[in-house]
Amino acid sequence: MRNLSRSYLNRIIIVFMTFLLIIPFMAFGCQEKDKTEMPVNSPGDERIKSDNILRLDTGFDGSLAFEHVKRQVDFGPRYSGSQAIKQTREYMKSQLESFGLKVEVDAFTAITPNPKFPKVEMANLIAEIPGEKPEVIVIGSHYDTKWFPDIHFVGANDGGSSTGVLLELARVLSKNRPKYTLWLTFFDGEEAMNGVWMGTDNTYGSRHMVDRLRKEGKIGSVKAMILLDMVGDKELGIVRDANSVNWMVNTIWANATKLGYKKHFLDLGMYIEDDHIPFLKAGVPAVDLIDFSFGSTASNCGPGGSGNCYWHTDQDTLDKISAESLKVVGDTVLASLPDIADQIR
Ligand SMILES: [Zn+2]
Repeated sequence: MRNLSRSYLNRIIIVFMTFLLIIPFMAFGCQEKDKTEMPVNSPGDERIKSDNILRLDTGFDGSLAFEHVKRQVDFGPRYSGSQAIKQTREYMKSQLESFGLKVEVDAFTAITPNPKFPKVEMANLIAEIPGEKPEVIVIGSHYDTKWFPDIHFVGANDGGSSTGVLLELARVLSKNRPKYTLWLTFFDGEEAMNGVWMGTDNTYGSRHMVDRLRKEGKIGSVKAMILLDMVGDKELGIVRDANSVNWMVNTIWANATKLGYKKHFLDLGMYIEDDHIPFLKAGVPAVDLIDFSFGSTASNCGPGGSGNCYWHTDQDTLDKISAESLKVVGDTVLASLPDIADQIR
């Protein structure tokens, strides 16, 4: 993905405006903190008690999600068309089937601008959890890692983390019948195949899925889409993506707050281009949960620059992510799903 869909200046303005909005929130936040220190029976204490219950109730196991990330990283660089991505696909499919889920492998050929890979065989994986309603909520993650000619890029965070969370979500969600049918979707080809993210050299899998649903007349049955990307950072800070629809962002931030995870869900706005964009263009409400400050205090920064030093570098390794961060995101998605379902029209 990238966050330069608008001009750099625009982004600066958005970040600046968000900070202006945060100032009153910060003051409010301090008052909230004071409240929790009041004697028993204060509203703050009630909130803490319900937080603990929510924490225990989701069933999401961060260590299982972390194990899924490790297994992917062990396959090595998993760029589209590689032997390692095929192994990853087999691993994901067998895991999903072990949860009793029906898995569709939707293979397609992508034409790329990289002369080394003019045609790439790609495949999306879709695991269905039947709901009370036939209409669908898509929960997605890309599972490819970016191809580099010169570095060994294993994408523990970028590609690995969200895929690990989605596999663990599959295990938890498969135990109950949700209100809406869920399509847990693993996208191939999110990353640019020819270096820089430009034109149609990215989001191959999500564009393929939306095109196909349109052709089959089914896009109208997809009522919402939740995308996860780069959600494993030990210092997790999810940004408010300004391309995502507001009501979904607000619903997720409210649930994160209830769970006691507010510090990981920032009041910082950015415009993010990612696999949710084809869905938004097709009129599907969508949200991207992404941490775009990966390695914010590191030196030796890559193309993400200071504040996002490990992004798209050989520093995106297992030691930079944590089971706790994966659980924060998994819990928050699980807690938010019923509220999102209730707001679907
Ligand atoms: Zn990437």
